[in-house]
Amino acid sequence: MIDMPKTKIVLDENEMPKKWYNIQADLKTPLDPPLNPQTKQPIGPDDLKQIFPMGLIKQEVSNERYIQIPEKVREIYRLWRPTPLYRALKLEKALKTPAKIYYKWEGVSPPGSHKPNSAVAQAYYNMKEGIEQLVTETGAGQWGSALSFASRIFNLKCRVYMVKCSYEQKPYRRILMENWGAEVLSSPTNITKCGREILKKNPKTSGSLGISISEAVEDAATHENTNYALGSVLNHVVLHQTIIGLELKKQFEILGEYPDIICGCVGGGSNFAGTSFPFLRDKLIGKKPNLKIISVEPLACPTLTKGEYRYDFGDTAGLTPLLKMYTLGHSYVPPAIHAGGLRYHGDSPLLSKLTKEGYMDAIAYYQKEVFEAATLFARTEGFIVAPETAHAVRAAIDLARMCKYNNEKKVIVFGNSGHGHFDLSAYEEYHSKNMHDYSYPKVMIKNNHKKLPVIKEIIQK
Ligand SMILES: *Cc1c(COP(=O)(O)O)cnc(C)c1O
Repeated sequence: MIDMPKTKIVLDENEMPKKWYNIQADLKTPLDPPLNPQTKQPIGPDDLKQIFPMGLIKQEVSNERYIQIPEKVREIYRLWRPTPLYRALKLEKALKTPAKIYYKWEGVSPPGSHKPNSAVAQAYYNMKEGIEQLVTETGAGQWGSALSFASRIFNLKCRVYMVKCSYEQKPYRRILMENWGAEVLSSPTNITKCGREILKKNPKTSGSLGISISEAVEDAATHENTNYALGSVLNHVVLHQTIIGLELKKQFEILGEYPDIICGCVGGGSNFAGTSFPFLRDKLIGKKPNLKIISVEPLACPTLTKGEYRYDFGDTAGLTPLLKMYTLGHSYVPPAIHAGGLRYHGDSPLLSKLTKEGYMDAIAYYQKEVFEAATLFARTEGFIVAPETAHAVRAAIDLARMCKYNNEKKVIVFGNSGHGHFDLSAYEEYHSKNMHDYSYPKVMIKNNHKKLPVIKEIIQK
């Protein structure tokens, strides 16, 4: 019998990691601290208590390398984890590449993406500390669905501020959230102070992620027993997502291989940080100096490739702490013609720092080439990926083509962060040739940056 290459590598439930990996333990220098938005002084755990539970705040600032995953969280993870690692044999064949292409498929969770890896953990710690309601924002609806699902499991109420244009254009994601029992509001609303102010200035606004974050944070800060939950960017979210990369490492051990290149899409950075950080550790400790780790983003929101590494607010109104990160400026509003997802002005401080220090690279693509890649992927591998994920597919294809050109048998793996079943209108736009390319101009980034607070030299470093 001829040995067929494996199509997928599946771990047993009892092989699911019992700990998350915290890359803060392996940084050469510590992260620059978050700053109070008013005083511009470093904030401590106490400042976050108003909107986050202590369990998550401790993880946010922890320097412990491995953090135990609570048994109750593992029990829920087992619904869809461990997730499969696929070899894209049919895509390789279509590309005639000597490279091996793998993808880690996170689309098997009930909401259809990697996001419940953190949503379940966040809902758990909030429930444990007696919180009754979680509020959050959602853009495309992925995070809102994940938190609605997770809140239901732990009997918490869930309120979602959904960016107005998505609320109107994506009714199915809203219905999904409501089906899990969440309350979904079109943001900006008139129930928060910052929402009312934005509506007064611009009654016809289509909203933005930054505006919705402001509303959700204000809501949580002004209500008892209500906390805020963020779906990306923060250290504890990245920590929860490392279950992806830890499983992936085990799967490569089974294969007897190690990736040469890891790529993934970056919105706030959580899925890609989670996928790559357990491998990045090998690079940090000098074990795998040649490992390439590549973030992929849209040219319409080119945070890592064109933004600056500096302190900025996480939201539009300037209510959140200032984070040191790559940013386009918190006044960035995504262009209306951009269907390709990944629209946040900033990025995870951890991923930003490791990019700044040269451990990770970044590339950006136009949206049409991204959908072209996702279509080829659907027609070879079968899975219809989210527009966000499609960026990673584009990069993997280009890297595999480069391997063909150089006749290199590299091992490429990308994070397949979720399915695109609720994003078919974007695919339709692409197929009917109504999709247009857009690149966010540097002058606009410069203008946005003029509005940022200047942080004293000592802290800025
Ligand atoms: C939210 C989302 C992303 C982007 O968020 P990150 O925090 O960068 O991971 C990517 N892919 C899918 C499917 C998503 O839902």
